[in-house]
Amino acid sequence: MPFKLYFGPAGKPVGFRGTVAEAIEYLAKMGLDAMEVQQVRGFTISVERAKIIREVSQQHKFILSMHAPYAINLSSDKAETIEKSKERLLKAAELAHIMGASPVVLHPGYYGKKEKDKALKLVIDGLKEVVEKMKSKKISVKIGIETTGKVSQVGSVDEVIQIVREVPMTVPVIDFAHIHARTGGTIKTHDDYLNVIGRIENELGTEYVKHLHIHFSEIEFGLKGEKRHLPLGSGTGPKFEILAELLIDLGYEAVIICETPLLEKDAIKMKQIALGIFNKKKN
Ligand SMILES: [Zn+2]
Repeated sequence: MPFKLYFGPAGKPVGFRGTVAEAIEYLAKMGLDAMEVQQVRGFTISVERAKIIREVSQQHKFILSMHAPYAINLSSDKAETIEKSKERLLKAAELAHIMGASPVVLHPGYYGKKEKDKALKLVIDGLKEVVEKMKSKKISVKIGIETTGKVSQVGSVDEVIQIVREVPMTVPVIDFAHIHARTGGTIKTHDDYLNVIGRIENELGTEYVKHLHIHFSEIEFGLKGEKRHLPLGSGTGPKFEILAELLIDLGYEAVIICETPLLEKDAIKMKQIALGIFNKKKN
């Protein structure tokens, strides 16, 4: 079985001053395979730039995804914020389509003052509307629903599964650090990882886990969930080696985006760890 794990940072390398296209060239030269283009604080990439990014990434057989703006909140207490959120998400999907980036990763919303079910319904309704517009514009990227790190955010594993089940063109994005943080540190053993992947597989079907999109870092957390992402080996967990071995044993393909503060440096470390495990098993 070939090695099917692909690695890259969330955004440009640490301290990198160039464009996204230049970052892709730099990362590919380092031996990395992927990048999640960050549009989290608003849109910074023009259509022209997006076309150049697409060309450069194709030349390097590079895998791109995009992180949509943090300002999106499809379950806001304010109707106006929900409308703006749908517009922003549609714009992110359009830009990602031009760039050749998929999925467009999303933190869907906050519970606010609402019951959790009500917030989830608002998210699902909003997403369905955006997906309809995407279809009419022939935008074919997937929307990635991320497991979120704060207990105030829509995005438990069960909620992500329910959203993906109900909304076409969505896929789960598993952020293991976030799951660890929002559940008080429960991602420890092989079985803890397998439980998350297994639930997605059982509830949604095997096609949803054969090509996983994963975010990884260690993480500091408290009662409200995530505090900050930490480098590999910080000791807070979750532990990367266990996930790498599990994915290799399962034989699923996965793009693993490194969200530690060391970004590309830890992405390379993850790739080396995973390749080490893979080669040991092969022999
Ligand atoms: Zn995220």
